[in-house]
Amino acid sequence: MAALKGGKLVIATHNKGKLAEISALLEPLGYCVTSAGALGLEEPEETEDNFAGNARIKAHFAAKASGLPALSDDSGIIVDALDGAPGVYTADWAETPTGRDFTMAMEKVWALCEAANAPEPRTARFASTLCLAWPDGSDILFEGRAEGRLVWPMRGSNGFGFDPMFVPDGYDQTYGEMDPGRKHRISHRAIAFKLFLDWLKNG
Ligand code: IMP
Repeated sequence: MAALKGGKLVIATHNKGKLAEISALLEPLGYCVTSAGALGLEEPEETEDNFAGNARIKAHFAAKASGLPALSDDSGIIVDALDGAPGVYTADWAETPTGRDFTMAMEKVWALCEAANAPEPRTARFASTLCLAWPDGSDILFEGRAEGRLVWPMRGSNGFGFDPMFVPDGYDQTYGEMDPGRKHRISHRAIAFKLFLDWLKNG
């Protein structure tokens, strides 16, 4: 674990759901985790059209501003019937003048699948790209994906974002219905995290 000596890390997110998941994965390993939100850092604009590019923007911004290594996650849901949308724009689909509304965003996704007369199962995948960046400008990326299908109506109140409409392959429950511990073991973010942890162990 030489690459992260001192064990201090900024989680480059203002998303409470992501912060909770990432902290739950890192704190048992002895890392002292703080967040971009807690440090009062601004949220940089995500101007790239791919997960890796936006993960880099967020991690480098937080690393430079804090002087600490920073870990970001850029993620989203990719729906086959919608030619990959909302994808990298997943959070944008939830924007309203008063904040993010994921119920509205999920309704929109399902309505567009209906309008396209998309056959069931309506296959989709979650993608997560983690970027670990250092204040000197170097970085490393880790990517995970979880295949599954969309269901309607929404089910479950655990998790965040699009969890209530996504059933991962091999399961009957949505991420929103699952025990959070199970989601943390199998999710797109868990897969990317496993790569990150393997890197930490070997680094
Ligand atoms: P961004 O990475 O901050 O651009 O936001 C990605 C968006 O994808 C989030 O706001 C969520 O809506 C969605 N998302 C990413 N990961 C998950 C997840 O594990 N469950 C549910 N929604 C997710």
